[in-house]
Amino acid sequence: MKTRRIFLQKAGMSALALNLSPFSPLLGANEKLNINAMDEKPLRVAIMGLGSYGSRVARAMKDCKRAKLVGVISGTPSKIEAWQEEYNIPAKNCYNYETYSQIKDNPDIDAVYVITPNGLHKKHAIGVANAGKHVICEKPMAVNASEAKEMVDACKAAGVKLLIGYRMHFEAKTQEVIKMRMNGEFGKILFFQGLSGFIIGDPTQWRLNYELSGGGAMMDIGIYSINGARYMIGEEPIWVTAQETKNNPEKFKEGVDETIQFQMGFPGGAVASCLSTYSMNNLDKFFLNGLNGFAEMQPSTGYGPIEGRTHKGPLNHPHVTHQTTQMDEMAAIILDGKKPLVPVDGEEGLKDMVIIDAIYKAVKEGRKISLV
Ligand code: NDP
Repeated sequence: MKTRRIFLQKAGMSALALNLSPFSPLLGANEKLNINAMDEKPLRVAIMGLGSYGSRVARAMKDCKRAKLVGVISGTPSKIEAWQEEYNIPAKNCYNYETYSQIKDNPDIDAVYVITPNGLHKKHAIGVANAGKHVICEKPMAVNASEAKEMVDACKAAGVKLLIGYRMHFEAKTQEVIKMRMNGEFGKILFFQGLSGFIIGDPTQWRLNYELSGGGAMMDIGIYSINGARYMIGEEPIWVTAQETKNNPEKFKEGVDETIQFQMGFPGGAVASCLSTYSMNNLDKFFLNGLNGFAEMQPSTGYGPIEGRTHKGPLNHPHVTHQTTQMDEMAAIILDGKKPLVPVDGEEGLKDMVIIDAIYKAVKEGRKISLV
């Protein structure tokens, strides 16, 4: 009822502007809907870090209905210029890493999406929070749990929301499997397998520099299996064990993990067996097994299309660019307080960081680490 009233109010206002009744028989159903969508306040976003993933998010946002790219924060003036041209960004919404605290005086930016190297997330996210803007931060949200906790606390203290860029939480086939599990369609869940890896190239890139990455494959790609195990099984792990293999210590220096196999135990009796690596391709697979059925997804976390099937047959949901859906959904979370199917807030990111800390500890100490 409330939704309908808001719709009527909004549609009525638009009609005034257009000098046309939104219920006019001259308008088709889609046009009536478009009037409503146009009237909704967009989430006005600035992207910090105009690198490879930042560029992907910006392109995807061109198709967003609720989120709009309005600003940039970058250390590279030539990129700022190119983005201004491509995305029609006014000079007053452009900042660098020295000036972005001034964003607090800019009423035209609601949120900043931090897409810089992992080791800078804490500093950048807290900087944005202190400027009074909502924070969307890429995964891994930080390089350890203690940093992640500081970020959660800083955003709370500043009264802004903190969301982590977990795009899979909004992906249709993934959500279908999660809903099936919630409905008990797999029965008691006993096993999850997560395989996450690719062969990393350029040895000089920040992903292989401990100061900027905070680790290796685990921080970058293994986190998908950790997060996936949690949303697929629907429980929090109570212990981890882990084993590391390093075949190329020249490329993967101290603190930068090449390959880690890890296992997680869950309170309901399920076990997850996972692989995280920077030295093998063709590893993007989830398998969930319950007493009454299974789900298998491959690819499971790439940019898509995701492919999957369950004991009931193939998952047929159409592919939508992940970051487009993610940013529209995040706009609704920030602006309307919408509750996502699986959380994407700072606490959710912190849970993964606690597990990553435990995995590194399990490797170092060669023993099972309790998480309770
Ligand atoms: P890139 O290296 O392509 O881009 C990072 C950008 O950060 C740079 O282009 C630069 O932008 C800025 N930056 C600021 N300080 C530094 C620094 N000291 N060294 C290097 N770059 C710096 O990385 P990605 O875009 O691939 O990754 C960025 C983040 O996004 C990571 O946390 C990564 O985990 C995450 N990511 C998430 C994905 C997902 O699917 N959710 C996929 C890929 C990455 P500028 O010149 O504008 O300052």
